[in-house]
Amino acid sequence: MAQPNIPLVDLKAQYQAIKPEIDAAIQDVLDTTAFILGPQVEAFEKSFAAFCGADHCVAMANGTDATVLALEALGVGQGDEVITVSHTFIATAEGISELGAIPVFVDIRPDSLLMDVSLIEAAITPRTKAIVPVHIYGQTVDMDPLLQIARKHGLKVMEDACQAHGAEYKGRRAGSLGDAATFSFYPGKNLGAYGDAGAVTTNLPDVADWIRRKRNHGRATKYTHDFVGRNSRMDGIQGAVLNVKLPHLDGWNADRRAKASRYDALLAPLGIKRVATQEGCLPVLHLYVVRVPDRDRILSDLKVAGIEAGIHYPVPLHLQKAYSHLSLKKGCLPVTEKAADEILSLPLWPGMDLEVLEYVVRHLKP
Ligand SMILES: *Cc1c(COP(=O)(O)O)cnc(C)c1O
Repeated sequence: MAQPNIPLVDLKAQYQAIKPEIDAAIQDVLDTTAFILGPQVEAFEKSFAAFCGADHCVAMANGTDATVLALEALGVGQGDEVITVSHTFIATAEGISELGAIPVFVDIRPDSLLMDVSLIEAAITPRTKAIVPVHIYGQTVDMDPLLQIARKHGLKVMEDACQAHGAEYKGRRAGSLGDAATFSFYPGKNLGAYGDAGAVTTNLPDVADWIRRKRNHGRATKYTHDFVGRNSRMDGIQGAVLNVKLPHLDGWNADRRAKASRYDALLAPLGIKRVATQEGCLPVLHLYVVRVPDRDRILSDLKVAGIEAGIHYPVPLHLQKAYSHLSLKKGCLPVTEKAADEILSLPLWPGMDLEVLEYVVRHLKP
């Protein structure tokens, strides 16, 4: 058998499955020349808000911009502290830092690798303005106790739902659980565009309205600007692609869960377990992540067998050079640091062939 080439996520297979619809939707944007914002993007905003169970959705250029603008809209600014986790993609903290605010990292739970909500209160100071729970790998943080703490201390809550399109917490969807939420439609996400794209969802009309103007040069009308804005708009082509894909998302997420169960069954005899599911959460398996002590050796075994596995993420934010100014020493977030040495993301995508999945398992030697 020829050496296979198994990616972490196969975007080609998904495109082939929906090619006629996608090609027609892109052609429509070309024919109507609605290249920036426009009817496709407006339609997507409506349907994605409904999908999340939120009142408003504002389409953005990417998830990082969504994070910056959502936090600014919630009143985060210079010198404020924002409580979040170090075990995430750097964009979560960039959104905080870009506003001159300071990320304050709490540790994660050893079972689910989600924010340990019991550590939040001890991290609150008079400068704390907001909490940013990160729904990492596609499962939601334990939001009820988090929201209770936020209410008690008058803090804003912004969900980083960039990996959690369609994930549910006690029957409600990510994107509707806090004051605002951010999504990324980076191509590899569960709902992926064909370029950069992102969005903010919120139930607060003023927040939605401010972000809508801020992303478009602070515009009131074409030639009048109410305040200094920026350009963080979604392209028409991305809106068109997302409109085609959104109706498929629930099915794709269900298929991810089915494939994950198959991995669970095949890996159990090897003594390998995926990170635990948060109680009350229906996960969407953005990534299938296991913990293995001999991670780096296993990763290179897989590579030799033509399998691309991943690590999300090998260096926690508090140990990145970009955050060296926070002077956080190795050892200060022990659960985060131990997880970073042991986590391994296995190939997973909706529609993945079971033979491919079985091939991955055969080459996984703990
Ligand atoms: C992808 C991602 C982002 C940022 O999204 P971009 O669209 O790439 O800017 C933010 N937070 C998390 C957790 C992500 O996975």
